[in-house]
Amino acid sequence: MESFEAHYDSMMKAIRQYVPSADLDKINRAVQYASSKHEGQKRKDGSPYIIHPLAVAEIVAEIGLDTDAIVAALLHDCIEDTSASFDEISTLFSPTVAELVEGVTKLTRVEFSTLEEQQVENLRKMFMAMSKDIRVVLIKICDRLHNQRTMEFQTKEKQILKSRETMDIYAPLAHRLGMQKLKWELEDLSLQYLDPDGYHELVDYLNAHREEAERFMEEIKDSISSKLREVGIPCSISGRIKHVYSIYRKMKTQGKTLDELYDLYAFRVIVDTISNCYNVLGHIHEMFKPVPGRFKDYISTPKPNMYQSLHTTVIGGQGIPFEVQIRTRQMHETAEYGVAAHWKYKEGVDPGDGKEFDWIRRLLEDQQENDPEDYLHSLKVDLFDDEVFVFTPKGRVISLPAGSTPIDFAYAIHSGVGNTMIGAKINNRIAGYDVQLHNGDIVEILTSKSAKGPSRDWLTICKSNQARSKIKQWFKKEKREENIVRGKASFEGEMRRSNLSLSLLQDEELQPQLLKKLSFESFDDLYAAIGYGGITAVKALGKIREDLLRATRTGQTDSETGKILEIAKPKARSHGDDAGVIVEDIDNCMIKFSRCCTPVPGDDIIGFITKGYGVSIHRRDCPNARGANDPDTAARWVNVSWISGEERPFATTLEVLATDRDRLLLDIAAVLTSMQIRMKEIFGKDLPGGRCQFTVTFDVKNLSELTVVMTKLRAIDGVEAVNRGQN
Ligand code: MN
Repeated sequence: MESFEAHYDSMMKAIRQYVPSADLDKINRAVQYASSKHEGQKRKDGSPYIIHPLAVAEIVAEIGLDTDAIVAALLHDCIEDTSASFDEISTLFSPTVAELVEGVTKLTRVEFSTLEEQQVENLRKMFMAMSKDIRVVLIKICDRLHNQRTMEFQTKEKQILKSRETMDIYAPLAHRLGMQKLKWELEDLSLQYLDPDGYHELVDYLNAHREEAERFMEEIKDSISSKLREVGIPCSISGRIKHVYSIYRKMKTQGKTLDELYDLYAFRVIVDTISNCYNVLGHIHEMFKPVPGRFKDYISTPKPNMYQSLHTTVIGGQGIPFEVQIRTRQMHETAEYGVAAHWKYKEGVDPGDGKEFDWIRRLLEDQQENDPEDYLHSLKVDLFDDEVFVFTPKGRVISLPAGSTPIDFAYAIHSGVGNTMIGAKINNRIAGYDVQLHNGDIVEILTSKSAKGPSRDWLTICKSNQARSKIKQWFKKEKREENIVRGKASFEGEMRRSNLSLSLLQDEELQPQLLKKLSFESFDDLYAAIGYGGITAVKALGKIREDLLRATRTGQTDSETGKILEIAKPKARSHGDDAGVIVEDIDNCMIKFSRCCTPVPGDDIIGFITKGYGVSIHRRDCPNARGANDPDTAARWVNVSWISGEERPFATTLEVLATDRDRLLLDIAAVLTSMQIRMKEIFGKDLPGGRCQFTVTFDVKNLSELTVVMTKLRAIDGVEAVNRGQN
């Protein structure tokens, strides 16, 4: 069992070594506070719980974080596991410490389930996005490192689950933040549980060859250091066998056995200046034969995670290849502790062009501009400001545009979920459709088969294009259903008017032939097209009328068939010469202009198929034309258009409202006369208050002539309004 004292001493040692400026008093208060809060709690191995926060704080100190981060590490499990609260910590320590602790607590609450490949990247992003302050992620990684180190007391299931998480989330995060040392340890510790056999085989092999390996490394080290001493370059050299997981991964990905593996050894030469890095490289290439294509200059082109070093692989005396990394002390610290190391240095390095790491660059740029003390507080993770990451109840991570709502979430799951949504729960509480989602929210969509579907205002509530286009799709499709109903009513109405039996449409032998003539896949498609206005019921029926009649004649001797009313028969008056209007889909028919709205060429018009009197033409805005939208009569409304170039006069009616005065009638007549327009009728009637209304009927050629008349009439003294007649 491990003791409090041992861990406390070791933490303090790390703090003195790596964070000499730390506020020891504040740290000791945090130790006391955490100790009292975790009083009586035990770890899995039976040791007092406080050992864990002490160990985490030690790692946090090792990577060089500041007092607040060390204090937060000591308190990191207090909010979750003890009676401590945000406010208490904020008062006793500082709001910053409380925020760090709360940040770590939030990450701790994130439940991981088994991870699909694509999910992992989102989880890492969410981690960053949730953390706000980069120190939260760093503390969380240290927390995980200690848990991973002490994993042996957990159940096998938990070991595997946690190790998978570590491998998928924490090690890559450590890598991105440039913390190679932590990354290596996390990977090796995880591998130990994920592939115990593979891990131990490797470790056994390395142990069995340790002596010769160490002898080899000593030789190489000696020869390099004596050479560099000779030329007067101060340096420190270390050699290591590469970490287990990196060897393991190479064996797996390159399908090689240990003996075939290229380089197991890595030497590191740390020098004082950048120019000496290149000098050392030259000497090493003189001493050993370089392997072509293995030289990498990460000093002039740093890796996106800020890593800088020269790498080369050379062949040693016994034909054994090894890698040499050459860098300055500062580059080394960055390599070991990445972004954390930059707390220590005012001058950052250019982290390169990796877009993904823009935020690190921004952090470094900020660092150069600000006072280094402010820098800690301005370390905000804003890379993922335009995204929000939330969970399904089953733990799947969904990435949505920032500001997204449950509606966006529902449609991101499936359009079926969105379309049947009747409510939403966020973190198990009923929430409105328009509530903005936050990182880490668990969102559940309540659905019902009897849901009415999306409403139009969802289009303005939702943030994602995905949701918007799916909602629009729904309306289009839903309209199809409506269209089918409307189209079917029109078509069947037309059938009935033609005295054709509806049962003909159900005739399975007849159907394919009818559909072929109609050029539709199904009758529903036909109805949808009629309902939508793509084809008129009259035209559709015209296409299959002969077939239906033939079927009627052969199928039964229906005496009624003779009575079919055929509007489109040539007996109707041909229009071209005198009507001035073309009726769509009907070649010859009688035309008359409605009295109610007296359309003239240029007006937007529509035709109504009357019973026995041909087609009557209305203005589209005529109140009597509203029936065009009525399913019962829609089939009888047809598209009509003016024959262009028609110059003959059309009778139309205007209503003139005016204050009565002498000579008013004469002035009205004078306007028409001046335009050489023949007045047909004029009625006047008195209105209360000394006003009057004239109804004038006259001939015009077209709408533009009529518009001129109206303008001139309106200019007459006393005239209040001039309107098209609509009686
Ligand atoms: Mn912990």
